[in-house]
Amino acid sequence: MRELLLRLSENKRLAPLIMANGVSRRVAQRFVAGEKLEDALAAANVVNRSLKLASLDLLGENVSDEAGARAAAVGYRAIFDRIAAERLDANVSLKLTQLGLDLSEDLCQELLEGIVQHAAELGNFVRVDMEGSAYTQRTVDLTKRVRTEFSAVGTVMQAYLYRAEQDVRDLLAAGCRMRLCKGAYKEPPEVAFPKKADVDANYVKLMKLLLPSGIYHGIATHDPAMIQATKDFARDQNITSDKFEFQMLYGIRTDLQDALVREGFRVRVYIPYGTDWFPYFMRRLAERPANVTFFLRSLLPRAGNGA
Ligand SMILES: Cc1cc2nc3c(=O)[nH]c(=O)nc-3n(C[C@H](O)[C@H](O)[C@H](O)COP(=O)(O)OP(=O)(O)OC[C@H]3O[C@@H](n4cnc5c(N)ncnc54)[C@H](O)[C@@H]3O)c2cc1C
Repeated sequence: MRELLLRLSENKRLAPLIMANGVSRRVAQRFVAGEKLEDALAAANVVNRSLKLASLDLLGENVSDEAGARAAAVGYRAIFDRIAAERLDANVSLKLTQLGLDLSEDLCQELLEGIVQHAAELGNFVRVDMEGSAYTQRTVDLTKRVRTEFSAVGTVMQAYLYRAEQDVRDLLAAGCRMRLCKGAYKEPPEVAFPKKADVDANYVKLMKLLLPSGIYHGIATHDPAMIQATKDFARDQNITSDKFEFQMLYGIRTDLQDALVREGFRVRVYIPYGTDWFPYFMRRLAERPANVTFFLRSLLPRAGNGA
């Protein structure tokens, strides 16, 4: 089921059909703050009021023309301006394929640099999300390159990749901030651990490399076992709760987010918004079978409505 949903998430013909469907739109609202920047800012406000931090993501990936990439970059600069104007405690997450990585690495670097410079001027930070493994090396390289000018940028490591440990060591040596996650894309067994137990073991191993580094990282997971392992390790190593943050996705395990805040941990909520929500939505369905059942049930006509 996971494989199928992740394959469908890349299907350009299915996207408009699902996105036009009213029920899908309603179900997607659980994971996506809305279609407009105003919706994301309102969600960030609520998140901040409950003492959590936010990261805003303007949904979009695999942009196929330069105009689209430049428009996304303009959009991101505007997000930083609004975050500053509204004094929100929020940064921004973006994807390099939204900034034209499929078209030209030079274009992508130029746009990323512009956004990171703008973020740095406002005392803010850009997180470069990690996409499928075809982009890993370029994402690491571009982040490192831009980081030599402006330190207000970091990226993401996916524990399911065999190469992740080497990348973590490499980026730590460069002083780079990282978000650790398990990984959300469809990857072959040649590049990623196929078994969840191995992914989880690698996640804990990488967390133990990141936390003592003296660099501020994000531990992104909803998995209580990963969270407990992080808390235990931090306590044993005397790493105080202001030295790292937990991160979770909008609409997922809000109860756990709030419990961590009550325990004194920093929690950042990743808030996606925009009209291009299909691939993001499909990845969220793929992560949890119960989401699919809920979605399929919602598509069925309600009792009494049918003939
Ligand atoms: C802040 C943040 C940023 C991320 N950025 C990236 C990125 O840049 N690149 C990337 O590849 N991946 C990214 N991810 C996704 C990540 O890789 C995983 O796919 C996702 O977080 C699920 O893994 P998990 O650690 O929650 O553990 P899992 O073992 O998948 O889940 C543990 C438990 O969490 C809950 N849960 C997990 N997912 C869902 C869901 N969709 N709906 C409802 N409950 C759920 C369930 O209770 C589940 O039992 C990000 C995740 C977070 C939290």
